[in-house]
Amino acid sequence: MRIWDAPHETMDREQLRALQLERLRATVTRVCERVPHYRARLAELGAEPGDVRDLDDLGRLPFTTKTDFRDGYPYGLFASPLTEVVEVHSSSGTTGKPVVAGFTRRDLETWAELVCRVAVMAGVREDDVAQVSFGYGMFTGGFGLHYGLQRAGVTVLPMSAGNTARQLQFMQDFGTTVLVATPSYALYLAESMQELGTPDAFRLRLGLFGAEACSEEMRRQIESRIPIRATDNYGLTEVMGPGVAGECECRSGMHVAEDHFIVEVLDPATGATVPEGEVGELVFTSITRECSPVLRYRTRDLCSLTTARCACGRTTARMGRIVGRTDDMFIISGVNIFPSAVERVLFSIEGIEPHYRIVLGRKGALDTFEVQVEVTEELFNGWMDDLRAFERLVTERLRSALLVRPKVKLVEPGSLERTEGKARRVIDERPR
Ligand code: ADP
Ligand code: ZN
Repeated sequence: MRIWDAPHETMDREQLRALQLERLRATVTRVCERVPHYRARLAELGAEPGDVRDLDDLGRLPFTTKTDFRDGYPYGLFASPLTEVVEVHSSSGTTGKPVVAGFTRRDLETWAELVCRVAVMAGVREDDVAQVSFGYGMFTGGFGLHYGLQRAGVTVLPMSAGNTARQLQFMQDFGTTVLVATPSYALYLAESMQELGTPDAFRLRLGLFGAEACSEEMRRQIESRIPIRATDNYGLTEVMGPGVAGECECRSGMHVAEDHFIVEVLDPATGATVPEGEVGELVFTSITRECSPVLRYRTRDLCSLTTARCACGRTTARMGRIVGRTDDMFIISGVNIFPSAVERVLFSIEGIEPHYRIVLGRKGALDTFEVQVEVTEELFNGWMDDLRAFERLVTERLRSALLVRPKVKLVEPGSLERTEGKARRVIDERPR
């Protein structure tokens, strides 16, 4: 197993902490001098850059939220003048103003380096041909993987998302071995490949998936359709984009690039650190970014963390799978539900196709909770009695796992919308 940057990825944890502290101090000084927002927030807390004497002092620094990014739109949080900024990205901003991040030349170097690390960690090699089916554009996914894979010496096909027929054609013609996509688009591509019925025409072996949650069951769904090894990787625009963390070949958590980011897991309600291994909200502080440094960014992503040494030899902390986002959780009859919990139940039932949608509505004073899910052709076109019985089984499985009874609607295979980017699982039609 190859390690791209062994000196950093396998660093002794004491040394790593010392490096983090030195870089954190430089970052706090930088934002205090250059970004009015951070200067004001630090002043409110009566904190000064000199107060950071030890990593535990991190807890005295202010949090940053999505709202802060929106308020700073577009360049308000930049710590570099535009003369030094060579690229700008933004997140989709489905609700409100998008989040903007700038990159200096050195930031682009770091970005390429860190994406290269996760790609090598997942197992890419120089003889690979990687098809990047993440969208190119303002979204960080396409360009991030592009830079990182090139650095790893891989042959890159900058396909971008969409045009599935062409994706499949090029995959065969160019001998694509590595697919980069969201897990939901990867699943769609996998289904389309199966339909072609020419498995030998494909040489895919490795999937670098990310940008959205992917349960273990979803991973199995993809791997059962095409002979591919699927790996998960995590990133976000506010912190850098892809390259923040990725799975190694052991696939037991995503290694965080801790020499560039300090990660905390906090109780989302109180902000207190949760014990290692327990689920909480991920909070990142960047410690090497020039243009868009960020102090204690509240990601709203929920997962656990471990610093136990990995079998791959890396010493960096590993994040578990993202189990949900504090903002995609919904509440039905007083019960908190994450779409990932619905997904895990559905995908473990034989006869279910891995496409589903959750529709929330309101009838009178009551919330309604419908789960629409595709079933196999045989079931759908089979006996009505069988379909009804199956519907009862799915309802019962969901009820016993979630403690709320959904209305289950079994739909025809292929009838739910497919996505080329991130899947939209929850449709909330409840009046605000
Ligand atoms: P947006 O989706 O808001 O346009 P980003 O592309 O920056 O912007 O998305 C970052 C978010 O995507 C993360 O905060 C997280 O919720 C989600 N995400 C990214 N990678 C993963 C992953 N591997 N597993 C689960 N969720 C992920
Ligand atoms: Zn590992």
